[in-house]
Amino acid sequence: MAGLVLKHIYKVYSGRNTQKKRSIKALVNKITKKQEQKPAVEKRSGKFVAVKDFNMEIEDGEFIVFVGPSGCGKSTTIRMIAGLEDITGGELYIDGVLVNDIAPKERDIAMVFQSYALYPHMTAQQNIEFALKLRKLPVEKKDKDGNPVLAIDKKKIKELKQKLLNVQYDLEDAQDEETKALLSERKAAIEKDIEYYSNTPVQAYVYRHMKKEDIAAKVQWAAKVLGIEELLDNKPAEMSGGQRQRIALGRAMVRGPKVFLLDEPLSNLDAKLRASMRMEIVKLHNELKTTFIYVTHDQVEAMTMGTRIVVMKLGVVQQIDTPTNLYDYPDNKFVAGFIGTPQMNFMDVKIKKSGSKLKTEFEGGQVVNFDLSKLRKIDQSLLDGGEHEVTLGIRGENIKIAAAEAKSGSYLDTTLSVKEILGGTTQLFIKLSEGGAEYIVSLSERNDYMSGDTVRLTFDEKYIHLFDKETELSLMGRETGN
Ligand code: ATP
Repeated sequence: MAGLVLKHIYKVYSGRNTQKKRSIKALVNKITKKQEQKPAVEKRSGKFVAVKDFNMEIEDGEFIVFVGPSGCGKSTTIRMIAGLEDITGGELYIDGVLVNDIAPKERDIAMVFQSYALYPHMTAQQNIEFALKLRKLPVEKKDKDGNPVLAIDKKKIKELKQKLLNVQYDLEDAQDEETKALLSERKAAIEKDIEYYSNTPVQAYVYRHMKKEDIAAKVQWAAKVLGIEELLDNKPAEMSGGQRQRIALGRAMVRGPKVFLLDEPLSNLDAKLRASMRMEIVKLHNELKTTFIYVTHDQVEAMTMGTRIVVMKLGVVQQIDTPTNLYDYPDNKFVAGFIGTPQMNFMDVKIKKSGSKLKTEFEGGQVVNFDLSKLRKIDQSLLDGGEHEVTLGIRGENIKIAAAEAKSGSYLDTTLSVKEILGGTTQLFIKLSEGGAEYIVSLSERNDYMSGDTVRLTFDEKYIHLFDKETELSLMGRETGN
């Protein structure tokens, strides 16, 4: 079990496969080739910032979900945590230890992928125990008197030298000062580490295989927790997608990792199975109490599983918060629109403080005077008496049919385009003006409205959001009352 700290983490792809192992020979070849090619114009495929200034502290035992649309950098971030991707800039700590230059297998992390990556010719049991059988655990080396044996860690120095080479390559490719600075800092840190390990003998280890009975006990434990005891003799081809994913989870569990990383593990399953596996993974987390980091593009998965969610867009963290806070208090329009189905309605409005009211003019010219004391705290600059153009956000479920006695200035008259009866709820697709945008109202009670009818609506003031039209940032605080 472990907490994690991500400090100013950056990932810049230089435009070529940075993960490829680079040997000194390759470097020499490259330089020679470059010289031969002179004076040809050097083609550079350009840098790509996949993750930008990611900062987060993850407590031991949390269930964190990274969510965002395709290409937002969530997989890159989880892969950097796993050590499968080099970190361009910043610091990553696991359990208080800086792990930027620690090999993946030494990070005590287990990763579960979308493709279960099971060996087809092995039974479930063999798949689960495979890595344990190969694995050698480090045991501190002692002399005959029981004192620790110290030695220069040649393996570590070799790994660091390989890292240094990678950074040197990236530095050569870097085209902007920011990336160059990040990489130079990394280079200096690695050089310092090489210097340290070259001159400082550290605890030496011997590596031993796990005992057979210990492996068997671990497999039995995982099979019991996951309810797959009956499947242990089956091969992957004889199992359903859900069962295969359980085996993949079992394989991760038996390693007893400090952190579980799950990258879209349920994407290959059908909707029903996904929903039930979702719950099983949450239960597994409750049982293991280990830190889980889960990547998904599905906001429902994020909302139902995470104790905290990280919403990302184009490599930048948009908000880190609990599911309910993300839903109730989105920091910007992107988060507001990404979390929740149906999507939040966004309307262009003009607002002006008028006594105790916020005079709000909607598209088409209708005006509603919202009670300022019932709205969440608004940025003071918007209450200066002038008129401001902003984006108003309201979820469909926070719009209601106006009461018959509603006074003018408290409702909007809209035209119903389409009505969808979903059983428990009814969705009205309405317009504020002819040819204008369509908005969704989600009602829990049934009604007799027909397409073309005028529907008189009111907004629940507590759930109104205001966003800056340019920056798209929220213009409201969390408490109610102005
Ligand atoms: P998805 O859900 O589609 O997997 P994601 O949010 O996980 O998306 P990443 O896989 O982290 O996104 O990729 C982030 C960005 O980095 C993408 O635009 C992607 O094209 C780019 N990228 C990923 N790997 C590389 C690479 N090896 N070289 C260059 N660019 C890359």
